Amino acid sequence: MTMGAQSIHLCLDVKGFLANAPKSRYRGMFKHDDGRTMTPDEAKYHLLDELAKGNLFIPFGKCDNFDPKSGCLGHPVGDAK
Ligand SMILES: [Zn+2]
Repeated sequence: MTMGAQSIHLCLDVKGFLANAPKSRYRGMFKHDDGRTMTPDEAKYHLLDELAKGNLFIPFGKCDNFDPKSGCLGHPVGDAK
């Protein structure tokens, strides 16, 4: 299937991460609004909170075409190769 040139943001599979990631992976994963790094417990709570809101995926970085149920929907790239 050819979709043309698109860029896709990486995203995090929230449920998969909660199910599989060792606790050490949560360290430094998120920051509070004031810039403090979340502890692993806080980061895990943050992910559980996203899941509770129905967000199965969360984007890495800024994405303006994001579906929390399936991830980045893709962005057309202007000058296709
Ligand atoms: Zn995106």
